[in-house]
Amino acid sequence: MAHKALVFDEKLCRYLEAFGRQESAALIALREETSKLPESIMQITPEQGQFMAFLAQLIGAQKLLEIGVFTGYSALAVMENLPATSRMVALDISETYTTMAVRHWSNSGIRDRIELRIGPAMQSLEALLQEKGQPGSFDFVFIDADKVNYPGYYEAALRLVRPGGLILLDNLLWSGKVADPLIVDPDTETLRSMTRGLREDPRIDFSLIAIADGLGLVRRKT
Ligand code: SAH
Ligand code: CA
Repeated sequence: MAHKALVFDEKLCRYLEAFGRQESAALIALREETSKLPESIMQITPEQGQFMAFLAQLIGAQKLLEIGVFTGYSALAVMENLPATSRMVALDISETYTTMAVRHWSNSGIRDRIELRIGPAMQSLEALLQEKGQPGSFDFVFIDADKVNYPGYYEAALRLVRPGGLILLDNLLWSGKVADPLIVDPDTETLRSMTRGLREDPRIDFSLIAIADGLGLVRRKT
């Protein structure tokens, strides 16, 4: 019988932490400051940051988009590993969280490569779609803002990304709630129907992996 996904006990978690991550001093500093916030759970894990950076390097990403910045960990994890020619557009609604992000990006020397746009992400995406040169130009998109808007973010991302480009959707396993049919709150329902739709979407290739809270990997075909 094929292996099921592993159950992570304490010992295995510690092993993964010891061997599965290579976190820069800048990322450690940002994670430690973020951990003092009550919302710190929203930050991606170091393993996921490393994996996303790996993917971005693998496809030679030059133009990136992030929807949902928070304190800037995922953006830093990816951008600090890409060449100085790469650029990111980063969207978030919160001045408070992103002020911290900007401070850490500045300390790491990547601030100039990230264009932060504050406002409701759906509006920022619609604006981006109207700008010359933006549609079909992004290599890499990370979707990680409010879950009920994921379908809108995804459709916009698909128009912004180039053929062959990568879209990552975070939290598709939603602490396991998606697998419990009795849980029907709007976030869970959206993530569930989103995942179902991705499986059947002929415009893309799709892979759902059990890292952190579940990460959807989407490759635009044409
Ligand atoms: N990628 C981040 C975590 C993002 S948490 C990291 O790895 O650290 C989700 C973020 O989405 C929060 O910062 C929140 O302010 C933002 N957000 C929530 N609703 C939003 C909206 N409607 N438009 C833009 N950003 C939104
Ligand atoms: Ca997330």
